[in-house]
Amino acid sequence: MLLLGTASCILGCLKKKADSEDADELAGLSEAKTKSLPPSTGEKIRKFKHGFRPLGRNKHGKPHMTHKNIIQGTTIETSFISLEMAEGRRKKLMELMKKNGNSTCAECGKKNPDWGSYNIGVFICTSCAGFHRNLGSHISKTKSILLDNWDADQLSMMEEIGNVKAKAKYEMHIPMCYRRPCVTDPDVLKEQFIRAKYEREEFMHVDKQIYTTGFMEVYLWKRGKEDGRFQQRKFVLSESDGTLKYFVKDSHKEPKAKIEISKLNMTFCPKKVGNPNGAQLTYVKDGSTRNIFIYSSSGSAIVDWYMAIRSIKLNKLLIAYPGTSELELSQFLTRDFLKEGWMFKTGPRSSDGYKWRWFTLDDRKLMYLEDPLDPYPKGEVFLGYHADGFAVKKGVPPGMKEQGFGFTLRTKDRIFLFGVQKDEDRTEWMKVLQSVIDRPLTPQDNSMAANLVRKRSTIRQFIY
Ligand SMILES: [Zn+2]
Repeated sequence: MLLLGTASCILGCLKKKADSEDADELAGLSEAKTKSLPPSTGEKIRKFKHGFRPLGRNKHGKPHMTHKNIIQGTTIETSFISLEMAEGRRKKLMELMKKNGNSTCAECGKKNPDWGSYNIGVFICTSCAGFHRNLGSHISKTKSILLDNWDADQLSMMEEIGNVKAKAKYEMHIPMCYRRPCVTDPDVLKEQFIRAKYEREEFMHVDKQIYTTGFMEVYLWKRGKEDGRFQQRKFVLSESDGTLKYFVKDSHKEPKAKIEISKLNMTFCPKKVGNPNGAQLTYVKDGSTRNIFIYSSSGSAIVDWYMAIRSIKLNKLLIAYPGTSELELSQFLTRDFLKEGWMFKTGPRSSDGYKWRWFTLDDRKLMYLEDPLDPYPKGEVFLGYHADGFAVKKGVPPGMKEQGFGFTLRTKDRIFLFGVQKDEDRTEWMKVLQSVIDRPLTPQDNSMAANLVRKRSTIRQFIY
């Protein structure tokens, strides 16, 4: 609105200037005031009397308006008209934006998008407009609704197409396993969705969806368990044997690891890995969560691989739950972590001091690690249902030392004391933990709890 206000102010000034100069010119010249003028000017004035306007003189006979100025004046007048028309088109765009389907970004669903792609005919948010520009103007031509001027043809494209029609065309065959990005998703998911849609046209031509074929081989950079160095490894996904394997060397016949796809999760975590295409694989190995950190130099390679995992998982679920719809099952393909971050945590004894740990909340599992990229967490806490004694409370019990902004988590077996550096962080952690323990357990949750209980019998993974 502020920008619109500024635009109307500029318009007002231009109009005023154009009006005053125009009035000056039309007022004509009085003979008395022309006597002192040089003969050449007098010649022009005589012509003016017979219907010609003198160039370069105002009504006082002074050369205030030069030929150049008149041309500029005309430009201002023209600019005014075109700006006024542009403002009209902008208003029309703003109205179109309120229409059903256009009020959210065509790509990520963000509310009130303020950019448009006028050849595709979609309303998009600023961040998605950046990804559209990365496609090149031969694929998408973007403009800001507030800052740029739109011509009549561009406006009519937006009017004729719009988000609903464009979606029907470009997302006609989007497979159920494909994860549509939302506004909070990492850039790699948003950009690859946009590239898949308009550059590769994957959702218009089913044969281009390589991730639905049930087999994929890709080279990814994998963080070493011991040395923490990223090295390139061959990863092979196979739906027929239901596994993901990775090989240290191409020549190796035996994989370094073989993971059941139905037990595998993948989530993007670019910040933690330090790469825009960074991701984390997790699966339970011998009763403990194993983390594998990977990235690819190619955004499309890692996103295709992610979708391939989702496609295989969906097909397995469809076999396991024949009466359930694809849409319902598609909610259970991969999980993002509910929250991650650093917190202080005490041991189980009142004499134990606080330790600074990295926490990852993965559904009902709260894991803590010394380093966010550790291959195994130091401990894992299962979060049950509040009716079974699980609770989150602000502060710490009387007689216990509080570190920073403290709060207490009570599980069936013990209490955990946590501390964070900001009150807002405490509120956020408490809110998300509470939401988990307010949710009744599913049969899958119970089996996860059983796994973690078994873990506690081993010394290394003892929760402390
Ligand atoms: Zn967007």
